[in-house]
Amino acid sequence: MDHPPGARLVNISDRPLHDDSISRLILMIRGVLFDLSGVLYVGSKAVEGAPASLETLRQSGIAVRFVTNVTRLPAEGILERLRKMGFEIRDDELITAPRAARSYLLKHELSPYLLIHPALRPEFADLVTASPDAVLLGDAGDDFNYANLNRAFRLLMEGAAFLAMGNNHYFRENGGLSLDIGPFVAALEYASGEKAAILGKPSADFFQAAVEALGCSPEETVMVGDDVLADVDGALEAGIRGILVRTGKYQPGDESKITRPGAEVLADINAAVGWVLDAA
Ligand SMILES: [Mg+2]
Repeated sequence: MDHPPGARLVNISDRPLHDDSISRLILMIRGVLFDLSGVLYVGSKAVEGAPASLETLRQSGIAVRFVTNVTRLPAEGILERLRKMGFEIRDDELITAPRAARSYLLKHELSPYLLIHPALRPEFADLVTASPDAVLLGDAGDDFNYANLNRAFRLLMEGAAFLAMGNNHYFRENGGLSLDIGPFVAALEYASGEKAAILGKPSADFFQAAVEALGCSPEETVMVGDDVLADVDGALEAGIRGILVRTGKYQPGDESKITRPGAEVLADINAAVGWVLDAA
């Protein structure tokens, strides 16, 4: 029987393999990328049932990775936080925008001015930051003050490379929706006339690296997220399937903002895992 290279064989037992089974075999999902905030948890609380659903998915043999633009915590802080909420996630399963940014800076031998959250500084502690020839933006929170933004602006006007760990509009935390990195990227782009290179989601390079880490092809992968642009549209553009969940920052009507075909809209991570297991 012919099957695509790398496809996992299903046990079709007593049923003959006909055309319909072949098309389902080709569309089989072998890997899932999960966004963190708004999907696994909202604010400081796990989405109900999420740890158990994730465990069920793991036991089915489907590969999982976690892709996040969170830049208010270093990777080990994210893992620790997830552990407290009941999620056991390995360090190598976590793919973050700061890790991608770090690799980019090292590869291009750039010395960055870091306009980032104080909690993230340890991830960049060993990089040379004297005489910056790049500006790297994270979600700096209260450090997005006039003096810091103006320093970044001046460096950009002097020709520094402009890098940002995402361009998300907003996120949901305990008190409601909050400004994310995107509005500050936009402000600096507006003032300087320079366009930022985005090193997290929705960059196609970032999704490509995540798919490689899964060991699947993009067609065998689905991305689960609560952000239409960064998660779902970004994944669809990289040839990955997308599931928008109605938790986290999701607002009614968000589904109409998805610009490409091929996305599912489901209640939450539990429904998403059910969909994946049906498609597997
Ligand atoms: Mg999210």
